[in-house]
Amino acid sequence: MMSVRQVLDIVLSKTECLDSEVVALREAAYRVAAEDVLAPAGFPPFPASIMDGYAVVAADGPGEYPVAGQVMAGHPAGYVQEPGQVSYITTGAPMPEGADAVVRIEDTEPSGDRVRIKVGVQPGHDVRQAGSDMAPGTLVVRAGSVLGPAELGLAATAGAGTVAVTRRPRVSVLSTGDELQPPGEPLGPGQIPDSNHVMLSAMAQRMGCDVQPRTAIAEDTESQLGQEVRGSLRQSDLIITSGGISMGEADLLPKVLTDCGAEIHCERVLMKPGKPFTFSSWQAASGDRRCVVCSLPGNPASAMVTFLLFCVPALRRMLGHQPPALPRIQVVLDSELVPDSTRPEFHRVALAWDHDLHQGKGGYRAVSTGAQRSSRLLSMLDADALITVPPGSQPLPSGSTVAAIDLRHL
Ligand code: AMP
Ligand code: MG
Repeated sequence: MMSVRQVLDIVLSKTECLDSEVVALREAAYRVAAEDVLAPAGFPPFPASIMDGYAVVAADGPGEYPVAGQVMAGHPAGYVQEPGQVSYITTGAPMPEGADAVVRIEDTEPSGDRVRIKVGVQPGHDVRQAGSDMAPGTLVVRAGSVLGPAELGLAATAGAGTVAVTRRPRVSVLSTGDELQPPGEPLGPGQIPDSNHVMLSAMAQRMGCDVQPRTAIAEDTESQLGQEVRGSLRQSDLIITSGGISMGEADLLPKVLTDCGAEIHCERVLMKPGKPFTFSSWQAASGDRRCVVCSLPGNPASAMVTFLLFCVPALRRMLGHQPPALPRIQVVLDSELVPDSTRPEFHRVALAWDHDLHQGKGGYRAVSTGAQRSSRLLSMLDADALITVPPGSQPLPSGSTVAAIDLRHL
């Protein structure tokens, strides 16, 4: 059986970054930048006042001065300010030529048709020099980073109206099993609701994928599975199936995948839950289309854990995220964890910040989500992180510091 590391290496080696598209900045929130964005010019583009007040010649010092004019934000002065004059100026307005400092309104007073400047200031006082917030050539967005609020604001400041982003991965989600009914439908004897389709679709959507509107559920027959898989291969970058890969009579997916022309690279992983995880890839005979298929076990908690461990890095690779793996953090166990004797276990935990940990420096306490049985989806509720519990015979004691995959970065 392959290790999680070996399978992850295979998944990443068969997955490549998708091509890019150019979109308007306002459409680009939370997408992944495909190219660096540089600021061609500095910001602000002109020396600007930091305050509402009077533009002065610093060397003139305190005193009463005639007002040469007023400069409002968005409107250049259009005149030269002589020594011995001041100009009314608003925050963000360009400094009039000749002035070299600003005295804020609170430090001035009207005096007939003149203005009394009550304080002395140094040249440059309350003036934002051109390029002082951002020098020309500054890298404001790095390729592979997510276009969050700061990146979008900076790209706009740098003068960009559009940005190159990686194309959204096209993802098909297929639940398999005769027992499954769409959510909300009445259940006959032996039937259960399909929880995996909505769950896995939501995860893919949250990662920025286009989830293809195809049939959600396939029965356990070669013909129906084959029809769904064949239909999805051409339209998808990633197919996520759940169920049908264990050792039972109705576990037909590996055969169906092979019949559809996919090559299976891994059929079992040394992990708990998720042992039956199967990974395959497909390429059109013409060579112009490729697709990878992650076949997850049917049990909902197993499906979630294998999605997190294998589909997330695959999708992050397609999207061009750097790095493809989710970040790891150190956490302190809130209770003892009993390991499996042979397989590493991915234990779901909630995280709580505890000020008292690590000699008062603070840290995350990891609280188990309870029984980890693979059918118990409640173990995923409130799960902020996955702890890898190495196989062994000794429990991991409460208070141990262990590494955890931080799921809050999805
Ligand atoms: P399988 O991997 O097909 O052998 O399924 C393992 C277990 O997961 C069985 O109890 C199935 O009923 C259950 N299961 C499979 N697919 C789903 C699904 N989409 N939603 C909820 N439970 C499922
Ligand atoms: Mg099944």
